[in-house]
Amino acid sequence: MEATKSIFIQGEWLESESEETLTVVNPATGDQAGIVGFGDGRDADKAIDAAHAAFASWSQLTARERSKYLYNLYELVRNHRDELAELISLEMGKPLREAKGEVLGAADNFMWYAEEAKRVYGDTVPSSVSNKRIMVLRQPVGVVAAITPWNFPVNMAARKLAPALAAGCTVVWKPAEGTPLSAIRLFQLFEQAGFPKGVVNMVVGKPESIGQAFIDNPKVRKIAFTGSTRVGKLLMEGAAKQVKRVSMELGGHAPFIVFDDANLDAAVEGLFESKFRNCGQMCISANRLYVHEAVVESFTEKLVERLKKAKVGDGRKKDTEIGPLVNERGLNKVLDHIRDAMSQGARVAHGGSRLTDGDYGNGFFIEPTVLVEANEEMKIVYEETFGPVIPVIAFKDEASVVTMANNSNYGLAAYAYSENVSRCFRMAEQLEYGIVGINDGSPTQTQAPFGGMKESGIGREGGVYGMDGFLETKFVSITV
Ligand code: ADP
Repeated sequence: MEATKSIFIQGEWLESESEETLTVVNPATGDQAGIVGFGDGRDADKAIDAAHAAFASWSQLTARERSKYLYNLYELVRNHRDELAELISLEMGKPLREAKGEVLGAADNFMWYAEEAKRVYGDTVPSSVSNKRIMVLRQPVGVVAAITPWNFPVNMAARKLAPALAAGCTVVWKPAEGTPLSAIRLFQLFEQAGFPKGVVNMVVGKPESIGQAFIDNPKVRKIAFTGSTRVGKLLMEGAAKQVKRVSMELGGHAPFIVFDDANLDAAVEGLFESKFRNCGQMCISANRLYVHEAVVESFTEKLVERLKKAKVGDGRKKDTEIGPLVNERGLNKVLDHIRDAMSQGARVAHGGSRLTDGDYGNGFFIEPTVLVEANEEMKIVYEETFGPVIPVIAFKDEASVVTMANNSNYGLAAYAYSENVSRCFRMAEQLEYGIVGINDGSPTQTQAPFGGMKESGIGREGGVYGMDGFLETKFVSITV
């Protein structure tokens, strides 16, 4: 099989400088899903040059003109929803229904920022000196280097590229190694949307080498990253050398709290969304379940009943609710968290094992798992699991559960279920997380700010907030 070109620079599809290739594997079957070019820092530098050369003209277009391209892209992505979704499901395993939702989410971002481009307002500020005027301009930061993970391969790109382009920045994107096929298809749509040459560029390739080019090349003014906290810290350290702007969407370890006054059925559905969607491979996935001691038994029973009905399988099959894990490394981490918890006294209430019978044996499948009698010593209660396993901890009162919930280096998402409106407000205010779902297990929307506190990141994506990271604020003082 010939390698598909995966490097797009200055409007051209190119071979990688290294001439290396990458084989993409379907995690549901172990079969080869494709072979693509695999570049490195040399390709990244070429792409940065192209983006840099295109910046002057792109940033000087009117916002209405930039908006037109984004709107074209919105329509193309919407119209190619099924094709993009099938590629996502093929290369990283998520159920087709979810993949289609992701593609529509991406399209929605392109539309949102097609609109937002037109609303980058400045200010005039009253002066303290009678013959001076203060004017505040908002201008694009320059060339943006974007790095994204495999878990939402299309929408993570949209959430960075759409606001960057709307603001007037030009872009070099490095997708994840696991998901180049949907990235290539998305970029073919960028090409079709008619963006001027050099405005958007893509390099699939070696992460360290490309990351280093993004750090070292002074033409890159901003690094926008979604991925692990470990890599985020490396990029922040590197970016510090030239004081590059960064925005970081990093790991999470979400507490999910169920009070004794909660609607338990709604809480089970919310937890299912938060923990088992995308096979638990989301930075906002619940990673710790705290249930009030008065309802812990009945809640766990309801949860297990729900999981018994969940069909695990190839994401491309119609009835699949939970797909495979993305790769063997991901699977081994999840199994390690289960073993570690059990060795410290946790009990399996449901699941607990890799699925190996028949077709399952070729993929990276695991049963959705509930671990009861968990405690704070277990890895799963403080390390990000990224899989369909939830540990249950019983709690006695509100104050103690807030303390436990906030006891984390992460601060991305938290969830609380209660029918008591005062308690809901207290949770909204006291949980130290960038996103709080109150009676809501699936809180993301295009227009809402998405991002974390503490080691979960810096900056926000989404809506009007998502523009900030791609704009500089310039103060102009005028003597009249
Ligand atoms: P995950 O474990 O979820 O794959 P990573 O943080 O390793 O999370 O990956 C997220 C993205 O960061 C991917 O596109 C990956 O290729 C990229 N990446 C990994 N290591 C580096 C690095 N040293 N420099 C730049 N990007 C990197």
